[in-house]
Amino acid sequence: MLNHSLEPKTPEEWREFSILAHKMVDDVLEHLSTLPQQPAWQEPSEQVRNAIVEPLPHDGIGAEAAYSDFLTNVLPYPNGNLHPRFWGWVQGTGTPLGMMADMLASGMNAHLAGFNQAPALVEHQLIVWLAELLGMPKGTSGVMASGGTVASIIGLAVARFAKAGWNVREEGLQGQSPQGFAPLTMYCSTETHSWAQRGVELLGLGNKALRRIPVDEAYKIRIDALREAIHQDRTSGFKPICVIGSAGTVNTGATDDLTALADLCAEEDLWFHVDGAFGAIAAISETLRPIVVGMERADSIGFDLHKWLYLPFECACVLVRDAELHRKAFTMQPSYIAPMERGVIAGGLAFAERGLELTRGFKALKAWMSLKAHGVKTFARAVEQNVEQAQYLASLIKAHADMELCADVPMNIVCFRYHPSKAASTMTLEQLNTLNQELLLRLQESGRAVVSSTVLHGVYTLRAAIVNQRSTMADFDELVRAVEEIGARIVLY
Ligand SMILES: *Cc1c(COP(=O)(O)O)cnc(C)c1O
Repeated sequence: MLNHSLEPKTPEEWREFSILAHKMVDDVLEHLSTLPQQPAWQEPSEQVRNAIVEPLPHDGIGAEAAYSDFLTNVLPYPNGNLHPRFWGWVQGTGTPLGMMADMLASGMNAHLAGFNQAPALVEHQLIVWLAELLGMPKGTSGVMASGGTVASIIGLAVARFAKAGWNVREEGLQGQSPQGFAPLTMYCSTETHSWAQRGVELLGLGNKALRRIPVDEAYKIRIDALREAIHQDRTSGFKPICVIGSAGTVNTGATDDLTALADLCAEEDLWFHVDGAFGAIAAISETLRPIVVGMERADSIGFDLHKWLYLPFECACVLVRDAELHRKAFTMQPSYIAPMERGVIAGGLAFAERGLELTRGFKALKAWMSLKAHGVKTFARAVEQNVEQAQYLASLIKAHADMELCADVPMNIVCFRYHPSKAASTMTLEQLNTLNQELLLRLQESGRAVVSSTVLHGVYTLRAAIVNQRSTMADFDELVRAVEEIGARIVLY
């Protein structure tokens, strides 16, 4: 079926396709409902690798055969992020309803540049809800994006437009005036995720224009050092335009003093952007909201719904307090997409005027439908549970004779290492680093659990980032058991 045509034509062909389509749904639901019985990760075998390397298919093999290859060679070998014992990097788990909404969005193949259509109304409404959830005022603008990186870079682009002091869209950064434009600078902490470097590189400021300010012992940006760097730069002829605060850093889950950053940005007339890739979501829980207080004073916030809101990739959002500035930073209206009073393009292409993309998919549907179906409270409960699990894991590690915490646990990230007989240990830093690197790889290869790693002040640490609605407390017991058993084996042999 469908080897020589792109879709069914006769009623009989549609019926046949429907049977295959239903089987696809059943198979993936079977996959999702049996995750605990599957390994947390398994390496794609040589056979699988070879099977995927094929000549370009000039003649189709048909939908059934292509699907069968997917079942054999693709579905069993994910990186594991759906699994209840996967806490590597910061990867979300997806939800079954989110998956089905993605299918519906694809089925509609809605074009979300804007247009006079219900899908655009849904994205507008979603932005209103997300702004309310994060404490931003009515009238806040926003747009759904593929990920936190893109969302936050859109925020920085508006910042550059708003604060450069000349028409940066017309002139760029090339310096048309005789004395040239003052070079622009932005500020973040040494703990800020690498998206910010990507941003300043793309925006033409260059990596050196991103000043990395040192952090305190809790991994929060040092406000005194930040203020001094800004003043120093002004004295030296630079033009500071933007401060990036972190709500949940990628290494340890630390949150900067966002209230102090908001105050400082107000005093210094700087744009305040918050990277809340996962941490912004803490605001949806009444008990966790105090951690990110001050975020609601940001000029822009970039955050993911595909991390700590558990929705399938890709789904993120940038919110911009000043809707007019947001639009002005991106608007262009060539005649072939000029808005009309009536008809399909009435209202114009609102979302194309808020970012880089023209043709955009209907990412908003899965978020809109999931919020309606489950309610904010259900998401908040799942987020709170992950924070409780982080505390539980931290307590297991603290109590263990052969493991130690490597950083405080302010949110949902736990950094720890295996340290045999930690109280009386004579192992050097280097030995411990090597031991833990080997342990990490063996743990992943065992398929028992997946964590990732980072380096804190030279200490190599295992790192569990818990954005997983499928994990139970028992899964963390199993992680500790696996680390203990694998660690002991490395030390013995
Ligand atoms: C994941 C992450 C990002 C980047 O988000 P993507 O969705 O991967 O593009 C930015 N900042 C932090 C703190 C993150 O954890």
